[in-house]
Amino acid sequence: MSGESALLPCPFCGGEASGDGHIRYTRPLNDVTWADESPVMEAFFVNCTACGARTVDFAAGGHQTKERAHTAWNQRAHSGDGEEIARLREALEKAAIWFEQYAVDHYDKAKNAPDGREQHSREVKGKLNRDRANELRDALSIRGGV
Ligand SMILES: [Zn+2]
Repeated sequence: MSGESALLPCPFCGGEASGDGHIRYTRPLNDVTWADESPVMEAFFVNCTACGARTVDFAAGGHQTKERAHTAWNQRAHSGDGEEIARLREALEKAAIWFEQYAVDHYDKAKNAPDGREQHSREVKGKLNRDRANELRDALSIRGGV
């Protein structure tokens, strides 16, 4: 475990990192080489033991050396993740609002439905969209809405 003590916590969830990720390919990957143009026969990665986040180097599925994987992980942990998280939160908040609007649309159309069957169908769709909006809000730990 001594080699892993230098790994920072997961940039996404704060979980403990494991630095022993290793993939061995049975033959060189097609159309992918390392920066030094050597074939990709194996790759190293660091992963979070809690949420599964991991380092990836393009199509190789990892990094050329264990040291590079560790460096990449620690850089990620230090980089502008706050900004990225804020961007992703904003996108999820928008998605929650859209689902809520779909729900409202369906409930409105259910009220004006020409028959019970159409009304039921609209209510089901309205509920589905409201559930999705609520799931997103739960994930974001926000409540209330439009
Ligand atoms: Zn994590």
